[in-house]
Amino acid sequence: MKRNVLEQYKLPSDVRFCKKCTVSNQRPRISFDEHGVCSACNYAEYKRTGVNWKEREDELIDLCNKHRKLNGEYDVIVPCSGGKDGSYVAHMLKYKYGMNPLAVTWAPLKATELGRRNLDAFIASGFNHILGTPDPMVTRKLTNLAFTHLGDPFQPFIYGQTNFPLHMAVKHNVQLIMYGENGEVEYGGNMKNAFRPTRDIEDHDEHYFSGLPPEFWVEHGISEANLKPFMSPRFEDIQNNNTEIHFFGYYKFWDPQENYYYCREHTGFTPNSERSEGTYSKYASLDDQIDGFHYYLSYIKFGIGRATSDTAHEIRDGKISRDEGVALVKRYDHEFPRKYFKEFLDFCSITEDQVNQVIDSWRSDHIWSNESGVWKLRKPIWDEVN
Ligand SMILES: [Zn+2]
Repeated sequence: MKRNVLEQYKLPSDVRFCKKCTVSNQRPRISFDEHGVCSACNYAEYKRTGVNWKEREDELIDLCNKHRKLNGEYDVIVPCSGGKDGSYVAHMLKYKYGMNPLAVTWAPLKATELGRRNLDAFIASGFNHILGTPDPMVTRKLTNLAFTHLGDPFQPFIYGQTNFPLHMAVKHNVQLIMYGENGEVEYGGNMKNAFRPTRDIEDHDEHYFSGLPPEFWVEHGISEANLKPFMSPRFEDIQNNNTEIHFFGYYKFWDPQENYYYCREHTGFTPNSERSEGTYSKYASLDDQIDGFHYYLSYIKFGIGRATSDTAHEIRDGKISRDEGVALVKRYDHEFPRKYFKEFLDFCSITEDQVNQVIDSWRSDHIWSNESGVWKLRKPIWDEVN
C-alpha cells in the first residue's frame, strides 16, 4: 500500500531548504518568506531583536501574581517528563517566581532507564508530582495502530501527554498550565500563536490528532473505556475551570542548551553517555525507547530526520553554522534506530518485515528515488544548488 504523503500533510511537491537553517518546506505547516527563510528562523531573529525580555518577564510576574493562591492549593500545572525543558520551567516557577506547582508526567510508551533516573532526580529536587500511567496493553495496541496507520508510533503518547495536564488542571482546580516552548512557533509551524503567550484549547485537535478522530481507534478494536485516559476532559469542564495554557518560552528567552545547563545544576539532570541515534545530541528526548522511530518516520515521510531538527534549532540559536549543520545532517539523519529495535518489535507485536512495509509505504516519490534497490533522497540538502 502506498500512502499519499503530499496530500495527507498538504506538502509542496518541490522540496526547498531554508536559506538560514537546515529545515525544508516539507515540515508540515511551516512557511517560508520571499527570501527563502523559514518561519522558525524569522521567529528566532524576532526573539533576539524584536522582544523586550524585561517587559516579558514583568508579564510573567503579573501572570504568577494573578494565579498564586497562597492557600496551600496548587497554582500551576507543569507538564514535565524529567527532561531538561519541563524541569527547567517547573524549577524556575517554584524557586524563582515563588509558585506552588504540581508537576505532572504522562508515562513514556516504554521508558528508558536514564529517563526514569532523570525524572526521579527532578522530583527529588523538590516537587509534588503525579505520574499518569495508562494500561500498557492498550498502549501497546494503540502504538501498533498508530505506527501502522499513521506512520507514527508516538501518536498515543502525544494524545496522553496533551490531555493529561488538562485532566489534572480540572481535577485539582488549577487554572494555569505552563508549557515550555511553543513547538509550532519555535520549530516551524502554525504562527498564529507566535505573538501571544497562550494557546486556544480548541487547537488541540488540529495540531495533535493528525486529522483522526477518536472514533477511528474504536473502529480498530480499542474500546471507548480503553481510550478514555488518552482523551481530553469534556470541553465544558475545561472551560468551567477557566483553564489557560501558557508557554514559558513567550516570557523568557528559550534556549534548550541553557535549559540543559540549568537542569544539570539544579534538578540532577544527566545527559546520555552516548549520542542519540539519528543525531549527534546527548541531552534531548532521552526518556522513551520508542521515540527514535518517531524521528525515523519523519525522516522517511518528510526527509526531515532528527539531525535536521537538532541542527535547525542550533543554527537558529547561534550554536553552530549552517555548513556544520549540513554536514551533521548528511552524517546522521538517515541512521536507523537499531538500539531499541528489538524492544520496538516486541512492544508493537510486529515483525521486521511489517515494519519495513510500513516504512516503504510512506516513501513519497517527491522525496525518494529507488536506484537498483537502494533508496535515495532525491534532493538532499548537501546537494543543494543555490
Ligand atoms: Zn530556517
